[in-house]
Amino acid sequence: MARSVAIIGGGIAGLAAAYELQRMREAGADVSFTLFEQSNRLGGIVETHRQDGFVIECGPDGWVTDKPWARELAEELGLGDEVIPSQDEARVTWVLRDGKLVAMPDGMRMMVPERLDAVMQSPLFSETARAAYAAEPGRADELKASAPDHDESVASFVRRHFGEEVLRVVGAPLLGGVFGGDVEKLSVRSVMAPFVAMEREHGSLTLALQARAAERGGRRAATVFTSLRSGTATLIDRMVAAISPDAIWIGRGIVSMERTSVGWQLQDTLGAEKTYDHVMLAAPVHVAASLLEPVNAEAAALLNIPSSSAVIAGFGYAADAAPKLPAGFGFLSPDGEDCQLLAGTFADQKFDGRVPPSGKSVRAYFGGARADALIPCSDEEIAATAKHELKKVLGPLPEAAVTIVRRWPDALPQYEVGHGDRMAQLQQYVDAIGALHLLGNGYRGVGLPDLVRDGRAAARSLIA
Ligand SMILES: Cc1cc2nc3c(=O)[nH]c(=O)nc-3n(C[C@H](O)[C@H](O)[C@H](O)COP(=O)(O)OP(=O)(O)OC[C@H]3O[C@@H](n4cnc5c(N)ncnc54)[C@H](O)[C@@H]3O)c2cc1C
Repeated sequence: MARSVAIIGGGIAGLAAAYELQRMREAGADVSFTLFEQSNRLGGIVETHRQDGFVIECGPDGWVTDKPWARELAEELGLGDEVIPSQDEARVTWVLRDGKLVAMPDGMRMMVPERLDAVMQSPLFSETARAAYAAEPGRADELKASAPDHDESVASFVRRHFGEEVLRVVGAPLLGGVFGGDVEKLSVRSVMAPFVAMEREHGSLTLALQARAAERGGRRAATVFTSLRSGTATLIDRMVAAISPDAIWIGRGIVSMERTSVGWQLQDTLGAEKTYDHVMLAAPVHVAASLLEPVNAEAAALLNIPSSSAVIAGFGYAADAAPKLPAGFGFLSPDGEDCQLLAGTFADQKFDGRVPPSGKSVRAYFGGARADALIPCSDEEIAATAKHELKKVLGPLPEAAVTIVRRWPDALPQYEVGHGDRMAQLQQYVDAIGALHLLGNGYRGVGLPDLVRDGRAAARSLIA
């Protein structure tokens, strides 16, 4: 009898697992699977709105180029021609500083400069912050020797290298934009692992980036972000098209799972019960926690991870009413500025193909407590609030031809200090329970490439 697998959740993580199982089945593996998706659409947070030539991302707008797994999947799915780099020749990230947009210095990776001269000339930082930047390379030995052998918060890591102002002006809004979280709590080992490795090797992060640039020689760095011309949801659509339609059940969530002597007994929202040999739990982490609670309360307790919400308002402007925007990818709004947004993206300037000819597209991003406060509001109220906040930064904006609003409650799990240890402990419980994989953005990365990698690897591990 074929080994049966239930996949719970049809976001990118669950779909990547299903896609890989499908491939394995086609290659002769004796496995059958069913993917249960509670809502009436697949893709979870990955959603692209296409209207009148506008391609507006409702969730992720791309992924970091350094991680190859989403691009590899896209190419495998025949989307090689669709893969597009971010338009880095025009890459400027603006930071709101005392109500005005100030450009981040050239060549920054997060808050770390590749070129100190760019930081020294930047009006973004005070003399104190510039002095901290200038001193960091000279502190390489001290920083290397004093690097803690345990996890610490992102805030403490950034403070040790560059001080308080850099943390507040660029560190917190940059990480807040990705994780929507509190840098005093976020785990540096989980959310900035490459920088921790740089510290271990070089002490100074600035020297580490310079060494990387020297290794590259005259070659340009790869663009920071990658996406698909028709939007990230094309990755979802292509995976779905490659999976047998009868293996995907939309509008059927799993309400309970029980480990029995013959496997996993699952019950769905229609009351149907069925037993599977293996479960891949790819629902959001708080759903996973409640499903796992009756199976193993200790494991479920480790899934009690706080999550942060996001609210997005996207605007598409036709050629005859296109606003003039500053060059670059968008802006960040640090805490303390008179702007409720976490960030704004100039979508058509970040990626090609997002607008009809001469059109423009702007996306407003609310995170954390502000997003939570907006979630109960109507679309009209959210769009009006977004316009009001954008106006403070960009000046008056014309009437948009297309407006979208999306709410993502508790969508971004916060990897707090000690997350890695908690996940290692959780894995021990999962191994002891057996025939179970936990997939999705609560565990080993929130980015699309991480989720694709994990979903596919989990599927392959069933046959290995
Ligand atoms: C606004 C925003 C912008 C982002 N931008 C980026 C970006 O630019 N680049 C990047 O790499 N990442 C980005 N991310 C992160 C990334 O989009 C997410 O981490 C990722 O999409 C999560 O995928 P997932 O499969 O883990 O979960 P989800 O997408 O949440 O999917 C889980 C699925 O499970 C379903 N489900 C829930 N309960 C049940 C149940 N009981 N039974 C069955 N199904 C159930 C849900 O309906 C959902 O479809 C962003 C996130 C947000 C919120």
